[in-house]
Amino acid sequence: MMDVILANPRGFCAGVDRAIAIVEQALAQFGAPIYVRHEVVHNKFVVDRLRGLGAVFVEELDEVPAGATVIFSAHGVSKAVQDEARRRGLRVFDATCPLVTKVHMEVTRYAREGRDVILIGHEGHPEVEGTMGQFDASLGGRICLVEDVGDVEGLDVRDPESVGVVTQTTLSVDDTAEVLAALQRRFPTLRTPRKEDICYATQNRQDAVKKLVENCDVVVVVGSQSSSNSNRLREIAAKAGKPGYLVDGPDDLRAEWFAGKQSVGVTAGASAPELLVQRVVARLKEWGGQGADEVVGRAESVVFALPRELRPGPVSSSTP
Ligand code: SF4
Repeated sequence: MMDVILANPRGFCAGVDRAIAIVEQALAQFGAPIYVRHEVVHNKFVVDRLRGLGAVFVEELDEVPAGATVIFSAHGVSKAVQDEARRRGLRVFDATCPLVTKVHMEVTRYAREGRDVILIGHEGHPEVEGTMGQFDASLGGRICLVEDVGDVEGLDVRDPESVGVVTQTTLSVDDTAEVLAALQRRFPTLRTPRKEDICYATQNRQDAVKKLVENCDVVVVVGSQSSSNSNRLREIAAKAGKPGYLVDGPDDLRAEWFAGKQSVGVTAGASAPELLVQRVVARLKEWGGQGADEVVGRAESVVFALPRELRPGPVSSSTP
C-alpha cells in the first residue's frame, strides 16, 4: 500500500479564478464567439472547456474580427497590444491578474524616474513579453531580461546607479533570491519593489511542496507543461532528490513511477482545477494508493473583483 498525501494550498489562485470567470461572464452576457488572446490561463483542461462554451483562442489581435470582444489573458499584455486593441475599437475585457498589473505599474514608474529596468523571468513566457512591453522606451532607457545569475555580469545599463528590478510573478522563490543577490552586488543602489513581485499563490504553493517532499517518495504535480508555476513545483521535488512528474491529468500517470514507493505527494499548479487532482487521486487509489490526507498549510483568502461591466460582485478564491 502507498499513502497519498495532498499539498495545501494547491491549485487555483485568485487570479486564475478571476480570469476564468471573466471569460464565462463575457460568454454569458454577449454570447459566442468571445475571442481570448493567448490561453487565458495555462491549463489544457480549462482552455478546452472554455473553447467548448464558445471561446476562440488566438495568439495575435489581427486574428480578431472588427467589432468583436476580446479578452486579454491572465499573463498580461504589452502597451503595443493595448494600443492596437484601442485603435481597432475592439471591446476589451482585461483578465490580466492584478498582481501582474502591479508589476506593470512598477515598470512604468521606474521608466518615469529615468531608470533602466531589469526583469528577472523566463524568455518567451507571455507574462515576460507583456511586462517587457510595458516599458516606455520613448522616455529613453531600456528594459533587460535576466534569466539566471550567469546573465548578470553581461548586463549593459545606462547608469549603474539608477536601475530598478522587477520579476515574473511565478518564479522559483529560491532561484530568484540568488539572482537578486547577484544584481545587488553589481548594482548596490538597485531599486527593488516595495512588496515582492513573486505572488502569494506561487510562494504558498512552493512552501507547501517543500513540506510535502519531506513526507513522500515521489511527487505528482497536476498542471500543463506551459504552466510556469507548475514547472517550478516539479523542480522543488527534484531539488529535494525526489522524482517529480508534471501531468495534465490521470491519463499521463505511469504505474511504474510508483513501484515500490511508500508514499506519493500530489499538488497542483495555480491554473489546474481541483477536479483533475481528484481524478489523479482516484487513479492512484486504483493502483493501491490509500488515504489522501492534506498537509496542514497556509489558508488563502485573496479575492479579486471582476471588471464592473461583467459583474459587480467579487469572485472567491476556491482553493479546496
Ligand atoms: Fe496572479 Fe499569481 Fe495566480 Fe498568476 S499565479 S494569476 S500572478 S495570483
